[in-house]
Amino acid sequence: MNYNKLAELLFPQITKAPQDYESIYPPRSLPEGARVTRLGPSPTGFIHLGNLYGAFVDERLARQSGGIFYLRIEDTDDKRYVEGAVETIITALDFFGIDFDEGASLDGSRGDYGPYYQSQRGEIYQCYVKELVSKGLAYPCFLTEDEIAKIRKAQEENKENPGIYGSYAACRDLSLEEVQQNIDAGKSYVIRLRSGGNQDPEKARTISVGDGIRGTLSMPENYQDVVILKATGIPTYHFAHVVDDHLMRTTHVVRGEEWISSLPIHVELFEKLGFEMPVFCHTAQLMKLDNGNKRKLSKRKDPELSLDYYRQEGYMPEAVREYLLTILNSNYEEWRQANPDADAEEFPFQTEKMSNSGALFDLDKLNDVSKDVLVKIPASRLCQFMKDWAKEFMPDILPLFEGHEDYIEKILDLGRSGKKPRKDLVCGKQIFGFIRYFFDDHFEIEDEYPQNAAADAKEILTRYLDTYAHSDDQSQWFDKIRAIAEDLNYAARPKDYKKNPDQYKGHVGDVSTIIRIAVMGRSQSPDIWEIQQILGEERTRQRISAQIG
Ligand code: GLU
Repeated sequence: MNYNKLAELLFPQITKAPQDYESIYPPRSLPEGARVTRLGPSPTGFIHLGNLYGAFVDERLARQSGGIFYLRIEDTDDKRYVEGAVETIITALDFFGIDFDEGASLDGSRGDYGPYYQSQRGEIYQCYVKELVSKGLAYPCFLTEDEIAKIRKAQEENKENPGIYGSYAACRDLSLEEVQQNIDAGKSYVIRLRSGGNQDPEKARTISVGDGIRGTLSMPENYQDVVILKATGIPTYHFAHVVDDHLMRTTHVVRGEEWISSLPIHVELFEKLGFEMPVFCHTAQLMKLDNGNKRKLSKRKDPELSLDYYRQEGYMPEAVREYLLTILNSNYEEWRQANPDADAEEFPFQTEKMSNSGALFDLDKLNDVSKDVLVKIPASRLCQFMKDWAKEFMPDILPLFEGHEDYIEKILDLGRSGKKPRKDLVCGKQIFGFIRYFFDDHFEIEDEYPQNAAADAKEILTRYLDTYAHSDDQSQWFDKIRAIAEDLNYAARPKDYKKNPDQYKGHVGDVSTIIRIAVMGRSQSPDIWEIQQILGEERTRQRISAQIG
């Protein structure tokens, strides 16, 4: 068979040769050890935590090494294309501080290695397919869907591996004339790789591939004549991946572990095309604990899988980043303890320290990390963040913030000074819930008076109001509460009450809880005296009076 003739017959319109592309996209001139990484999302409109997790790895690898991180849009499947999806990807990642050096962007594309949309790279793929055909390494296959379905059925019945290989690869050895006749007859065809793997799957050789996260992966070589170009002239993921990552000079391919099963195909394609292989880094699935069982995060069941969730809830990006680092690298928390004030960027991120057996994502842990992160953020920034968040997600409450920044900052700083600062603040929604009693329209009595003191509530509050002096310092203020407690037969110290519970109605804590509920509506809150100072005398008195009735 004259493969050159076959290649010309199939791709007369392709006039460039691989050499041309090699010189259009030369190896990048970057410092020794610089890593080139990419994110290759499909524009489906849904961007999830897994994308962010992978993007984070890409970004760290590139940034830490003085390399390049670029965005390539894998839009060969137009059935999945959703309008505006590219903008969603870029803005969602930008929120978390992830940006790209190169590739698709909000205003077109940047960089010398484009086009960065796979849908615009048709000619490039076809050039390399033509090259493989001309070397006898790929061939047109005219099997119809029906014929393939029959093959599958026969394979199932014979308990053989499914796929087109060995004797099932009916078009492997068609003559040039047969191909010509089929084409003349208007038959549609795909291009398949002529696999060099052993056509008897039982005798497949084992290949070994070094993975940046998992160490050496050993698996059977590919033996399938996989489709590389569909009947529409569009490449499959396998082929586009290999050509793009070669020509865009990717050094590290970070992608989900679901791709490991097709790795042998990619290895064979890299070999057949004569390309150097990048380092593959297959990331673990994100899992969660559900009633004690580990399971994959699911789009249907787990709102936290969507990146939008974090923006809507009002998580600060640095908190999510900090949390992701704790699940990305097993030694991150240790590093953080040793370097409490360092910028997370200084952490030496390593793919070898990534989990390869399911990374556990835990919202409670995220919330704890967020508390630790937020406690270090100045109130002025938190206030600005709350305004930005409210503007987008809770516009009704924006007027409570705008123009009242001093008030808000005092509230946000409550209990945050001193050696053991309070860590109450997690995210926008929670913060508003936590502080809403500071706003009259959102204040309500949420808790009930403690049972042992409820009967005295009015008496306690009346006495409290009578003796209240807004200028009292904290200890003067507390002395008065103690006096009320003692007068009404509540122990002045909880430990006295514990020793002789029969002698008292309760202790000073019950008395202050009554006050706390009257002023804040809740039995738990930061320091009452400090809160009253922020609320101001008038509001404090009003709330107490309201409960006396
Ligand atoms: N387009 C593929 C996806 O969205 C990308 C996989 C890869 O990064 O190679 O799953």
